[in-house]
Amino acid sequence: MLDQNRSDLYGALREQSRQRFYNLWQLAKTGQAPTEGEDALLIQVMREHPEYYDTWAHANELLGEAIPADSVDPFVHAMIHATVENQIAQNDPPEARAVVEYKTSRNIPRHDVIHEIGNEVAKMIWTVLHDNKPPDNIAYRRKLAKMLPRAQRNLSK
Ligand SMILES: [Zn+2]
Repeated sequence: MLDQNRSDLYGALREQSRQRFYNLWQLAKTGQAPTEGEDALLIQVMREHPEYYDTWAHANELLGEAIPADSVDPFVHAMIHATVENQIAQNDPPEARAVVEYKTSRNIPRHDVIHEIGNEVAKMIWTVLHDNKPPDNIAYRRKLAKMLPRAQRNLSK
């Protein structure tokens, strides 16, 4: 799938990101966690996943280790969460926030809604990596719009 250079790059990025998760988790445990910015957001996402607390705590020991392809990579999962949270905060695309507001108003847990949106983010990233194409933002917005009732689908910026 990926050629050698790209998988090396991916490996380097992966190690960097795992070290970052480890460092952030250590900070969070000592109460010295940043309260704003990207790091604060990641810590919030990490806290929202008790099932991965053990992974965050030992992320430094996992540095070169591949996650089996058939299971969820907690680090990728958290990065996707952060991506969706940023989209909601920046209202870009506006469909992200609209989907969260609509679905939570129908008593669907917010975390589940983030996952639903995140699935589309993951597919988009996969296409970028696999087909070497730029992200198709229009297709992504269309997928999110389909999660909304008809009357709310034509959001423009
Ligand atoms: Zn999650």
